[in-house]
Amino acid sequence: MPAQLLDHPARRAPTAARLWIPKHVLVTRSAAGLPHTAEILRRVAAHGVADIRVLTSDRLPTAPKDESEREAYARAKATMAVVVAPPSALKPQPIPPSADWRLDLARGCPAHCQYCYLAGSLSGPPVTRVHANLDEVLAPIATLTGTGSVTTGNALRGDEGTTFELSCYTDPLGIEHLTGALATAIERVGTGRYGDGASLRFTTKFDAVEPLLALRHGGRTRIRFSVNAAEVERFEGGTARMPARIDALRRVAAAGYPVGLTIAPVMPVDGWQEAYGRLLDDVAAALSTVPAVDLTAEVITHRFTPASKQVLEGWYPRTKLEMDETVRSVKRSKFGGVKYVYPRETMRELRAWFEHEVPARLPARLLYQT
Ligand code: SF4
Repeated sequence: MPAQLLDHPARRAPTAARLWIPKHVLVTRSAAGLPHTAEILRRVAAHGVADIRVLTSDRLPTAPKDESEREAYARAKATMAVVVAPPSALKPQPIPPSADWRLDLARGCPAHCQYCYLAGSLSGPPVTRVHANLDEVLAPIATLTGTGSVTTGNALRGDEGTTFELSCYTDPLGIEHLTGALATAIERVGTGRYGDGASLRFTTKFDAVEPLLALRHGGRTRIRFSVNAAEVERFEGGTARMPARIDALRRVAAAGYPVGLTIAPVMPVDGWQEAYGRLLDDVAAALSTVPAVDLTAEVITHRFTPASKQVLEGWYPRTKLEMDETVRSVKRSKFGGVKYVYPRETMRELRAWFEHEVPARLPARLLYQT
């Protein structure tokens, strides 16, 4: 192995993962009696949370009137609510191009990414709501396996089976030490509890993978790490640093999990070719000792909507993140929604670069670029 790889940051011994510990835990009335709630409360108490309140209704308290937007944001991000998933979360939706279906173990995330895609999709203060009716959340895996329009029956991705994406509305690894929901889902699917043919996938910016390593995953959960160039990582507050994420990737790959990179949000920062080249090389170095790694890559460029921009500017008023409509192109959805993406020429350059460099630098299958 080249000498420069031996002391590569991604190869050094892992330090203990930094875990998010909420300051406040709220339990709604309907969630209070459920068995998964008991497990969550056991974990929360073990992590030293003192402020645990069981509510007399299913409504979360509103912010005090004299609280500023900053204070409301800080309080919400320090709060975990244990709730019963609403009916909408129990009816999986297709989630192209990632997976056939979306399942929500939780809604909300404790991290502070200044571009967070949840800003445009979840309304209200950013409390992390974890779902207590876990059995109901996971039940559709049994009924939907064999159906779907993304990986099921797809010539290129059919080997993944019917896919269920767990990270649309949360970062499930960032809260796993408090819920155990991810481990439950991984083992149930891994041991065929919902039949054969289903697989889970999630992406994360955290690194606390230790509790997942010995699970009976059966190769049926693809763990992807959201990775980025250092120039973009600075917008990702409260997450694990890049070398720690890459080392976590190595560890789950060595434990036999199929793995992946979610390279997102890609930004054409100054010297982006070198910056993303370094990132891919760091991953290659970390995985160089893992035999027969099953690695995929997904590449997603940065975009924003009028609603997400407004929310993010409220949460991060001093952000240096570029959200300038005048240098972007407009992309309209079939329902009339507007997204601001990079101009066509920039998109073309980014696409061509990743299309060439991902397979050139990594033993990876590039699943899609958006
Ligand atoms: Fe949002 Fe993901 Fe960052 Fe959490 S880790 S704040 S979900 S972008």
